[in-house]
Amino acid sequence: MNEEISIFLRKQAKERFLRYVRINTQSDPESGMHPSSEGQWVLGRLLREELLELGLMDVELDAHCYGYASLPPSTGFVGPAITFCSHLDTSPSASGADVTPMVIEDYDGGDIQFPGSGKIRLTAAESPELLQFIGETLIVSDGRTLLGADDKAGIAEIMAALCAFKAFPTLPHPELRIVFTPDEEIGAGTDFIQMKRMGEFAYTMDGGMMGEIEQECFDAWGLNLIFNGHNIHPGYAKNKMINAAALAARFIAALPEWESPEHTEDREGFYHVTQITGDETLATVKLIIRDFDRAENNRRMDYLKQLSRIFEQRYVGLEINISARDQYQNMKEVLRRYPEVVDKAKTAIKTSDVDVRENPIRGGTDGARLCFMGVPTPNIFTGAMMVHSKTEWIPVVALEKAAEVVVRLCGLWRKV
Ligand SMILES: [Zn+2]
Repeated sequence: MNEEISIFLRKQAKERFLRYVRINTQSDPESGMHPSSEGQWVLGRLLREELLELGLMDVELDAHCYGYASLPPSTGFVGPAITFCSHLDTSPSASGADVTPMVIEDYDGGDIQFPGSGKIRLTAAESPELLQFIGETLIVSDGRTLLGADDKAGIAEIMAALCAFKAFPTLPHPELRIVFTPDEEIGAGTDFIQMKRMGEFAYTMDGGMMGEIEQECFDAWGLNLIFNGHNIHPGYAKNKMINAAALAARFIAALPEWESPEHTEDREGFYHVTQITGDETLATVKLIIRDFDRAENNRRMDYLKQLSRIFEQRYVGLEINISARDQYQNMKEVLRRYPEVVDKAKTAIKTSDVDVRENPIRGGTDGARLCFMGVPTPNIFTGAMMVHSKTEWIPVVALEKAAEVVVRLCGLWRKV
C-alpha cells in the first residue's frame, strides 16, 4: 500500500473514531426496547448521512436501527459480494456517557493515569500488550467512562476503507454490503438483521489485539434447573421437609470446581452458575456451559442429568427438572467448509505488515450467529484492548492497520 493511502487511512480512521466515541450508545439489557437505547439512533443517523455523502447505494437505517449500505464493485471486478459488519452499541458494564477521549502521543511504556479518576491506572502489568506500542499514539478515555473502541473502532475502520475506495478509485474491491448492528453487547445484534442485505461472505470488525483473526468461538448452552421441594413448619419437619433452596446449594457444590470460569483459560470449557433463587418449596439455578467442543458440553449435560437422578434418589420427594437452550455454536463448524474466507483475511493481515494472531474466542460474536444463518463470518481485529472497562485503550496504528486490512482483503476477492 503506498504511503499516501496509509496516511489517508490513518487520518480518516482516527478522526472518525474520535467523533463516534463521543456519542453515548451504551446498550441497556433492562430497557425492553429495540434498540435498547436512544443513543444508538443518534450514531445510526450520523452514519446514514456519512454513507450518503460518500455516495453509497441502498443506504438505509431501518425500523430496528440496523444501518445498511452497498457499494458496487470497482470497474471490471468479478467476485462475490462481501459484507463488513460492526456494532453501534457499547457494553452496559461501564458508563458510555460523555466519553472524552484522550490522545497520548509517543507512549513511553509507563503507567497511564486518568484525569477523570484519581484511582484507576492502566499498567503494563495488567495489559502487557501496551509494551508492544512504545513510541506509538494511544487513545484512552479520561477514566470516568469506557472508551467505546468496542466497537466504534470497527465502524471507523470500515468507514475509512470506504473513504479510500472513493478517494482512490483504482483500488479494487468487490460489491460491498455494509451492516451496522445495534445491541450486540446484550446478545441481540442479529435479532432483526435482514439477511437479504448480506453478501455471500462476511467479516465482523469486532476483535481485539492488532493482527487477530478469530474463526472459533464457544459452543454455548444455557440451562435452567428447577428444584421442587416440600415445605413444612421447621419445628415439625423431621423426615418430612425437602428444602429446595438448601438442596440447590448442595447441588452447585457438587459441580467440578476446576471447570469454572475462574479456573479455566485457552481451550478449556466450564460450568458457570449465573443465578440462584428460591425457598424451601421451589429453587431455580441458572447456569451456562461453554466449550469449543460440543461433545464436551454433551458430557457436562449428561453429568448434570446423572447428578439430578442421584439427588432425587438420595432426597426422596425432591424433583429436579432440567431445560437446556442452545445459545450459539462454534463458528468453526461452518468456517472449516469455506477455508478461503479466513485464508484471505490472514493474507491481508500479513501483507499489511502485521503478525497474524489466531485466538479462539472465549465467548460468542455476531459472526457466530451469522455463520449458522448462512453467511460464513470470521472476526477481524479492531485493535481495541481492555474492552468493557474504563481502562480501555487502542493504538492509532491499529486503527490504520485494520482499515488497511479491509482494503487489501477486498482486493483479494477478485476471481481470477
Ligand atoms: Zn464488540
